[in-house]
Amino acid sequence: MSQQLPDSAQFIVVGAGVHGLSAAWHLAMELKARGRGTGHDIIVLDKTGPGGGASGIACGCVRNFYMTEPIHALLRHSVDVWMHDPVAFGFQQVGYISVGEENQISDYERIHRSQNAVGYPSDMYVGAEARQFLTNIWPDFKTDGVDVAIHERVSGYAGTRQVMIGLAQKCADYGVRIFSGVEVTGYNLQGGQVVSVQTTQGEIRCNLVIWGLGAWTPLHWRMLDQPLTIECRYPDGQAVSKDMWTYWRLLEGEVYDDRPYVTASGLNPPVLHVELMNTPVINPATGQPLKDYTYVYYKNGNERMDKPGLQGGTVPVKIGPQAAVEPYGHANDVYQAEAEFADYLCAAMGQTMGRFEGIRPQFRERRNGGIGAFTPDNVPVMDWVLPNLYMIADSNHGFKMLGAGKLVARYLMGDAVADLQPFAFSRYAEGKTFGSTNSHSPWV
Ligand SMILES: Cc1cc2nc3c(=O)[nH]c(=O)nc-3n(C[C@H](O)[C@H](O)[C@H](O)COP(=O)(O)OP(=O)(O)OC[C@H]3O[C@@H](n4cnc5c(N)ncnc54)[C@H](O)[C@@H]3O)c2cc1C
Repeated sequence: MSQQLPDSAQFIVVGAGVHGLSAAWHLAMELKARGRGTGHDIIVLDKTGPGGGASGIACGCVRNFYMTEPIHALLRHSVDVWMHDPVAFGFQQVGYISVGEENQISDYERIHRSQNAVGYPSDMYVGAEARQFLTNIWPDFKTDGVDVAIHERVSGYAGTRQVMIGLAQKCADYGVRIFSGVEVTGYNLQGGQVVSVQTTQGEIRCNLVIWGLGAWTPLHWRMLDQPLTIECRYPDGQAVSKDMWTYWRLLEGEVYDDRPYVTASGLNPPVLHVELMNTPVINPATGQPLKDYTYVYYKNGNERMDKPGLQGGTVPVKIGPQAAVEPYGHANDVYQAEAEFADYLCAAMGQTMGRFEGIRPQFRERRNGGIGAFTPDNVPVMDWVLPNLYMIADSNHGFKMLGAGKLVARYLMGDAVADLQPFAFSRYAEGKTFGSTNSHSPWV
């Protein structure tokens, strides 16, 4: 049944990705629980439809291996949401294991302490114990160079398409209306506040706007004349001028494998992430190094493949402050993953487990893209852009952060939400910019 686009709505959510839909669903529940309205007060607008952006193509890993400690609590809320209805969201709570070398042991210790302090249970293993732990799960794990491992028991992965359907259904259950094919083209302001949004199907008056715009956030940031560079102040007193948004393109892909990818006890294995900063990945075909470090993650990919196999990826590639966002994702010719990525992924998989040696011919050749807009410190920003326009910008690693919408909904109802505070935009001016991390990846 097609719905009539209203000419006014109390709340307009722009973008039907994980954050827009989670925020809309949670806001509807909060309004109802507090007797302050219903989901009918909320509309979600998406120029394509649910999953038209990164949320529809993400790898789907849900983990909490972050050197930025405030993220740990955010992920605890997120796993609560994933486990609220794991079937509807396609969530597989298989756990997550991160593996490192000696140079990261102190980082692992901090992460392990902080995760457990906020109620996110993880175990840590060092030295021979780490190697034993890994070979107990994967008997063919090649443990040379491995010095440390963390096992997050409540992490896992989700089918990206399934969660979009699940979230859209949750919204519908609470009366939230989602309008696909409606593009927001501008904002009408009065006294610095949004009074209406312009769309390809007319103007809609509103009281409050929430952005869940993913890679399109910088475009709307520009529509509102927000600063393109900002001064980032750090706790040590340093100040650095940085681009507000930096695009990166992701490198992910799939490998067919007819053999079941299972643990020694026959179970679906935890998501695996290996970063060995001092161990090169060697191309088995040439004997030449592909990169001077190992960074790879992989998991079962059956939920998104036509035949059995695994999905994985490596460190993304920086593009810069400008990028061609359209067409998005796999459709964009400019940001396709190169053949070298397939060489690297397959070689790294073969270096971590004996079963994947020689797997390169089984790489699934297909169009493979996806970009994201990162914040100045690569950590989410969740805050007001204008007094009645709230932004959820996850810095392109927040498919897992289903709890962001839950916290934002409470905050918009007037609650003080301490776990959101570290993600305020004001951190850059206040000397609370997050620092760099001991990793090749921008998202730890
Ligand atoms: C290839 C890839 C793999 C990833 N893997 C993981 C992973 O394993 N784990 C993880 O946690 N994160 C992962 N991420 C990051 C994660 O997918 C994103 O951070 C997250 O999905 C962003 O969600 P969102 O709701 O903010 O934006 P999106 O999902 O991008 O949604 C934004 C929506 O806004 C709509 N829109 C844009 N402009 C307009 C407009 N003007 N009017 C109306 N609608 C508009 C779009 O159509 C889109 O549907 C990955 C990202 C990519 C690209």
